[in-house]
Amino acid sequence: MASDLSIALSQLHKLLAQLAEAEGAFAGGPQSIAVAEKQVAQVAQKIEEQKAAIKQSRKIADDLNLKLKTKEADLKKLQGQLNAATSNKEFDIFKSQIASVGSERADFENTAFEAMEEIDAAQVKLKELESDLKSRRQAVQTLRAEVEANGPGLETALEELKSQIDVAEKVIPPGEGLSAYRRLRIANGAGALAGIEDDFCEGCNCRVTNQDLVRIRTGEFLRCRECNRGLYVV
Ligand SMILES: [Zn+2]
Repeated sequence: MASDLSIALSQLHKLLAQLAEAEGAFAGGPQSIAVAEKQVAQVAQKIEEQKAAIKQSRKIADDLNLKLKTKEADLKKLQGQLNAATSNKEFDIFKSQIASVGSERADFENTAFEAMEEIDAAQVKLKELESDLKSRRQAVQTLRAEVEANGPGLETALEELKSQIDVAEKVIPPGEGLSAYRRLRIANGAGALAGIEDDFCEGCNCRVTNQDLVRIRTGEFLRCRECNRGLYVV
């Protein structure tokens, strides 16, 4: 049969657990906002990097197109010289120059085409990132509104629990036991108390001595000899 003190301590233990949960929920909102905002910043950073990469690729493509135009002008000039050739020797020289410039031109053309394709792909990726950023920003706004709406309710619940706990703690007799409980509560919250299940402390799974069990059952406030938690029997 549990003593009145044990019953009161068991209730206090439940309140401490509820407080820990409520504090977690209270802190959880701002934490999720911070995480979501960090992700928004990361996507925004990726967008800047993507834009810079596209700008750089454009420069390369423009440069290639310029080279391509120069080669085309060269070809045109050579073609005119070929047509005006006065000997077979001259004709062969211009023909071979045309072949060489023509192959260079083809290389530039291929590279320029590849560069344009890369720019197109990079722009598709940029659009995806921008749409991702937009939805993430909206999600943060929704989350912020939710947290702001729930905040006052959670705060009231916290205050309510704390005052219930203040009252419930009065069952612990003043003295060394109460001071130890207070220290443990600051450090471990609900871990300041532990129930006894089948003669074992639920906090540390160590056996409670028979002598202590008898004292606890008669209503004395005792702490676990191993983990220092205030003990109760249910
Ligand atoms: Zn223990």
